[in-house]
Amino acid sequence: MDVPKRTLLDNCNEENVKGGSPDARLVYRVSGWLYEDGRFREGSLTVEDGIVVSVRRQKASDAVATGLILPAFANAHTHAGDAVVREDLKGTLEEIVAPPHGLKHRVLSAAKDEDVIAATRAYLEDMLHTGTTSFWDFREMGVRGLRQLYAAALGLPLRPLVFGRPSDMKYDAREAKALLHASDGIAISSLLDWDAGDAAKLARDARAAGKAFAMHASERVREDIDEVLDLKPSLLVHLAEATDADLARVGVGDLGLTFSDQLPARSSPPVAARRIHSPASRA
Ligand SMILES: [Zn+2]
Repeated sequence: MDVPKRTLLDNCNEENVKGGSPDARLVYRVSGWLYEDGRFREGSLTVEDGIVVSVRRQKASDAVATGLILPAFANAHTHAGDAVVREDLKGTLEEIVAPPHGLKHRVLSAAKDEDVIAATRAYLEDMLHTGTTSFWDFREMGVRGLRQLYAAALGLPLRPLVFGRPSDMKYDAREAKALLHASDGIAISSLLDWDAGDAAKLARDARAAGKAFAMHASERVREDIDEVLDLKPSLLVHLAEATDADLARVGVGDLGLTFSDQLPARSSPPVAARRIHSPASRA
């Protein structure tokens, strides 16, 4: 038998709903250990129509729920469009994700816009309902991919940071300009997939536009970390094959890092994500 999930709002009773008219605002409190300024302390929140209107450093006696009170999560590395890939992903990481012929890229490029948008929308709604309200998306498929993502996210109370990627594995000044105009920056797959000169031009254009340049690094194999850092990336993701010495090199400065032990095509958030610095703030 299916047991319906109880939600926080299910626990609200008449006493917690102020006023009796159809226009009455839904007001309730939650209480417990509140995470604030890097530590837990006793506290409570008052929520009015879904918006936190007050934070108190004392428990509330009329709380509709008690427990840990955490800020919403941020997923620092998503490929939301991958939600359209429904095939069982078998093969090596390279066979699945490496552009341009990896399985997911073939599925993405063949998919209709409406299918990508619908699948991405479902993914984003799931994200929202499981407590993640911001995400950094590495969107493939050029400007078309950006359009798909924006259409999917329309009206959802999420805070995305969106990086575009050229539609082909080569530098095109006009496309780079269009991507940067329509996104928060450019994110490429591994430097191994790119001509180093073309990658450098993309990084240069992103910096010139005051936007982020992000890249996957040492995901499938260890890469030369100095060649990666020479591009002055704002954000590196994965580094699964990086050595301690590589990480020490990366750790100098204000570079953002996202660690993940999961395939990018999966829908779960990374097990560990660390935002050291705003990716758009590195010159
Ligand atoms: Zn990725």
